[in-house]
Formats: sequence, C-alpha cells, structure tokens
Amino acid sequence: MTETLTLLEQLIRRESVTPNDADCQDILAQRLSKLGFSDERMNFADTQNLWLRRGLNPPLFVFLGHTDVVPTGPLTAWDSPPFEPSIRDGKLYGRGAADMKGGIAAFVTAVERFISQHPSHKGSIAIMMTSDEEGIATNGVVKVVDVLEQRQEKIDWCLVGEPSSDKLIGDVVRVGRRGSLNAKLTVFGIQGHVAYPELAENPIHTVAPALKELTEEVWDQGNAFFPPTRLQISNINGGTGAENIIPGQLEIQFNLRFCTELDEASIKTRTHAILDKHGFKYDLQWRLSGNPFLTSGGALIDATHAAIQSVCGFETIDDTGGGTSDGRFIAPTGAQVIELGPLNASIHKVNEHIGLDELETLSRIYEQILVNLLA
Ligand SMILES: [Zn+2]
Repeated sequence: MTETLTLLEQLIRRESVTPNDADCQDILAQRLSKLGFSDERMNFADTQNLWLRRGLNPPLFVFLGHTDVVPTGPLTAWDSPPFEPSIRDGKLYGRGAADMKGGIAAFVTAVERFISQHPSHKGSIAIMMTSDEEGIATNGVVKVVDVLEQRQEKIDWCLVGEPSSDKLIGDVVRVGRRGSLNAKLTVFGIQGHVAYPELAENPIHTVAPALKELTEEVWDQGNAFFPPTRLQISNINGGTGAENIIPGQLEIQFNLRFCTELDEASIKTRTHAILDKHGFKYDLQWRLSGNPFLTSGGALIDATHAAIQSVCGFETIDDTGGGTSDGRFIAPTGAQVIELGPLNASIHKVNEHIGLDELETLSRIYEQILVNLLA
C-alpha cells in the first residue's frame, strides 16, 4: 500500500498555501478520471474547486477535502523543508501531511482499490475538493454546494477527511460541530477629564456590569451531543493612553460557541435584552461563521463504526469538539456528515507529520466504509 505514501509525497511537494491549489486537484482528477469519474471544475475568484463523480444513481457518497495548507511559519523552525517530504522514524514530515493531504491520499487510494474490487458498485461516489478551507472559505464548498443544490444533485453521505483522531487513527470521529457567532460591540460614552466625571460618561464603567451578566449568562444546558453554549470575550479596547482622560468609546469583541439547543436569532435577542437593561448607547455587529450541525445516527455512522471496529479492533468515540470545518456547508442540505482523518496533534504546527502506518490504516478504514455502504 505504498501507493498512498507516494501520492501523499507528490501532493506535499506542491506549495499550495491557501488559497492556492498548485495543481494538486489536477493530480487527483487525472488519476480518478481513468476510473470513470467525471471531472468538473467550479472555480470562483482565486479559489479552485473540483467535483469528481462516478455513477448517476443514489445514494451519493462524497469525500470532502481541501488541497490548500496553512503557511509554514519560519522555515528555520522546521527540521526539514516543509514542501520536501521527509521520512524519519516511521513518520512523513511536510506541510499538509495531516491537514489534510494525508486524508486525501488515503481516500484516493481507498477509492481505487474499492473500484477494482467492485467495478459496478451501488450508488455513486464523488470527491469534492476546495482550495480555500484554511482561508475565509467564501468561494469554496459553500459555492459548490449552491451549484449542486440548483441542479438537485443530492448528497446522502459526506465524509470529511479532516484530522479528527486523537491518539490512534479512528479513535475519534466528529459527528457534529458547535456553531460559532462573533460579535463586535461598541459602547458610546462622553469623553472628559477624570477630575470632572459629572461632565463625562465613562463607557468602561457603564459596560462593566453588562459584561458581567453576559459572561455569567446560562445560555443553555447543552444536550447529549454538545456541551453548554459558552460566551468568551476576546478583545477589549478603550482609553486614549492618557492617565487623565475618560474615554469616549469602548470596543469589545466576543464569540459564542453554541450548540443545537440555540439558534443565531435567539442569541441575538437575549444579548440585546441584557445590554438594553443597562441604558447605555451602543452598536452591535454580528458575523456568523457557522451554524451547529449534528449527525446523530444513520447508515454513515453505522458503516464508520463497523469499519473502525474491523480494521482497528476498537469502538470509536463520536465527538462534536474542535473548530469549524467545511462540513458546516454540507450538513444544511440534509446529508449525513462525519469527519474522520489523521491525528490532529501536529496540525498547523512546524514539523507537521503523519505516521506511515497511520496513513495505511486510514486508507483501509476508508475502503471498508465504502464496502459497508456501496459494495
Ligand atoms: Zn483542514
């Protein structure tokens, strides 16, 4: 199975720092079009997107991934050049080895082996790739999903090859993610001399009790799949730098990681209700980076648990932790979505790597999932 390793090395040599694809998608398209996959490009602005599909019938199984990687950081901090794959102590080092070119290579070879064994498999298999997952993600999967929805191409099962594993390949699969909502609050006061507070209005003082309430608010109790919703203040900026001036305004940023017990609208209403009680002038701007999603059961989860059991010999854990991923754009279509991929310990770091045995195990799990669902 060194096929997977060879493909991964080929992908790592491409310097596909987000939003560049650096022809990674061409490599995948060339390999898979030989096996009967249609090759469709959906490029928007600076983002390359790839849609490869084999078969026309439902159910449709999609492997979702991204060919872009995060920047390397200082090259001198790496023990070997990040875009020259290097094998040491049974591990392959290089930018993207775990996030997520390792997942891509494992899936491509899994598909190749599966098709050679089951050339007339059930349903359809597709591969969706984007080059902007690590960036702002506005021209990637969200746009491809729009196109698919317009032509009523329905995804039944979506496996995201993002690094989900903790200590062993397959020990954790992500079956959902919390939502993420960002807020920028500006509180207006009246600037003045600290010796004449009666002629000024100090926004730091007026907002303090409101912040205490916001941070102590019990938003919900969570549920069986998610921890309770939490609000975290990330930035506070106020003051002129002078010791004797009451500032005229104050800016605060906060974020809510919210579960499926709440939605965007109710968070906004409750936040305004808390702020309004305190009677100061403010402006509040919101940016939703993703709604929560959850696949709480179904054929994809069953097939994945069974595949991990048969390849690894243990029962995997369903989890909803971590940051957001492109799965957030697929879940609203009604598809079952899970994330299963390499160990996440080295992602986005210097000396990113994947164990050679981990790569092979991952590819075998992916192949077994296809067997369980489509053979
Ligand atoms: Zn990733």
